[in-house]
Amino acid sequence: MIENDRGNNAPFSVETVLTHQGRVPDDQFGFVNTPVYRGSTVLFKTLDDLEAQRQRFLYGRAGNPTTESVEAVITELEGAYRTRLVPSGLAAVTVALLGCLKAGDDVLLTDSAYEPTRAFADGFLQQMGVTARYYDPRIGAGLADLMRPNTRAVLAESPGSLTFEVQDIPALAKVAHAGGARLIVDNSWASPLYHQPLKLGADIVVHAATKMFVGHSDAFAGTISTTEESWRGVESARRLLGFFTSGDEAFLVARGLRTLAIRMKEHQARALDIASWLEQQPEVTSVLHPALPSHPDHALFKRDFTGSGSLFAFVLAPAPRASVAAFVDKLQLFSMGYSWGGYESLCLPVVLGKNRTVRPWSAPGNLFRVHIGLEGVDDLKADLGAAMERYARAR
Ligand SMILES: *Cc1c(COP(=O)(O)O)cnc(C)c1O
Repeated sequence: MIENDRGNNAPFSVETVLTHQGRVPDDQFGFVNTPVYRGSTVLFKTLDDLEAQRQRFLYGRAGNPTTESVEAVITELEGAYRTRLVPSGLAAVTVALLGCLKAGDDVLLTDSAYEPTRAFADGFLQQMGVTARYYDPRIGAGLADLMRPNTRAVLAESPGSLTFEVQDIPALAKVAHAGGARLIVDNSWASPLYHQPLKLGADIVVHAATKMFVGHSDAFAGTISTTEESWRGVESARRLLGFFTSGDEAFLVARGLRTLAIRMKEHQARALDIASWLEQQPEVTSVLHPALPSHPDHALFKRDFTGSGSLFAFVLAPAPRASVAAFVDKLQLFSMGYSWGGYESLCLPVVLGKNRTVRPWSAPGNLFRVHIGLEGVDDLKADLGAAMERYARAR
């Protein structure tokens, strides 16, 4: 933790943590940033040193100064015991789950989980003898009814991918702990700037660093932050699986983090402006953004979050596929593609289908997910406005 030198224990602001934590210019000949370390072998000088493992880094796979520069920032922002950088957001989810589960155990996942998270649970976990079941994202304390004696992990994602339900993390944590299970939270949407699940009772927090941390759509990484009690299991799973993140990727995450606070602020403002504007448009039947007062979980959002992300969804009045194509095919500024978190806006038509098993999606109309980038907000509105006219005309 970086501490102020005025001796009054006042914590630094998140902006200061983001700009100063995780870099030690004195260790880098005075250069501001920790450079890209590439290395497998770390050299020991004597047999004494080797036997005593007397080296700050023992072998490249366990990390290097560049990966540490990222981990230190996220640890402080999440209020965690420690953090590990892993090769992707999905690896953060899978390693966190494997760190809590063994054959014969049971895991409960939110029905709104990121789709590859579901695929890992339904495929890999089931294959290794873990039962994976799903719960309604709005279940809260009602989760107690689903707990089994062998339930060892509960996975939450708040707000949920694609449908943006906000989850009651303190209530889920209480139920999980009462049953001897750990609560894992995917916190990618809000970033630790606006939501800190460990402080609400969660045990493990994961991030798709690929998204907001990197911020430029040009690198893959994930982070896993835990309490002290959950650290050993997670770190052991990562080490045994051999997951290591290269210094090149870590450098891009560290670079992104330095400007995360101002980027989040700008993404948040644009996304909220566009979400409110969309609510007024005749083709729009609903906007799924937790920071809007119309959102069913708005009260929970206001209780637990201090800000909102770039990503939300909206539903357009029923129309055939030709209308959906007319909407997305000729967008000028929004592009169509997976992922999110970069400086550029994205728009993705979504079909939920088998991604929901507890609460099948039944709202009539077509669902679109948008990531609001850093373009001029009026230009983005004009792009969406023209798309909605094409959508209506093609009906
Ligand atoms: C994208 C995403 C992931 C996976 O991240 P990758 O780096 O693409 O593997 C995990 N969780 C959420 C919520 C995501 O949006």
